[in-house]
Amino acid sequence: MLPKYNRILLKLSGESLMGDRSFGIAPAMLEQYALDIKTITDLGVQVAIVIGGGNIYRGMNEAETGIERAQGDYMGMLATMINGMALQAALEKAGVNTRLQSAIKMEQVAEPYIRRKAIRHLEKGRVVIFGAGTGNPYFTTDTAGSLRAIEINADVILKGTRVDGIYTADPEKDPTATKFDNLSFSDVIGKGLKVMDMTAFTLCQENDLPIIVFDMNKTGNLLDVVTGKMVGTLVQN
Ligand code: UDP
Repeated sequence: MLPKYNRILLKLSGESLMGDRSFGIAPAMLEQYALDIKTITDLGVQVAIVIGGGNIYRGMNEAETGIERAQGDYMGMLATMINGMALQAALEKAGVNTRLQSAIKMEQVAEPYIRRKAIRHLEKGRVVIFGAGTGNPYFTTDTAGSLRAIEINADVILKGTRVDGIYTADPEKDPTATKFDNLSFSDVIGKGLKVMDMTAFTLCQENDLPIIVFDMNKTGNLLDVVTGKMVGTLVQN
């Protein structure tokens, strides 16, 4: 089986790591992700990962937490490091070589983010996990995903979610919603569809980086996506 993409950036949300829990990390999810990722590295695909932190902390809930936004956002970025370390451990256990790079310096647990070093790791077949988002408050890990994908010249950004693509309406609320297989960036804007936040989305559009939204929780989907099978929704110029 030949991969369609040589270098991908996989964006995983923190929430997806919860599995059926309401908080934190479900070990079974971690293991499933690690095995799915191993399947594609075995094919020779270079894999970079950005992981969210929403299963542990979100900075924008200032009204709820009483913690000001910027401070909360830094807490959210640290949460992504916890997820990144967990994913790193699961991947290494599955026999995949990894490096974790952090946008906020924490030398005892991760390399600092260095673009050229990240590319070198990928060329050597290591999975590179980018933690701590962009390193800046007021951004999201979707934006970190788009930014890093462009920086490392990824062929595509794969947004793994719990839904199997982009729908006309929220399929969890509207049973008549139908799925799109292909969309252009301007379709997404014209139809008022939600794929990523605007900053993340615009970065992809302006830099001609295709996005595939797919259900990462179904084993085998990641392999199907990288081998070009029609899974999820593809957004491109
Ligand atoms: N965050 C941030 N800057 C970034 C990335 C993330 O401040 O570049 C913070 C922000 O508070 C966010 C939290 O980290 O709410 C967790 O990330 P996100 O909500 O994107 O995770 P996901 O929804 O993917 O689990």
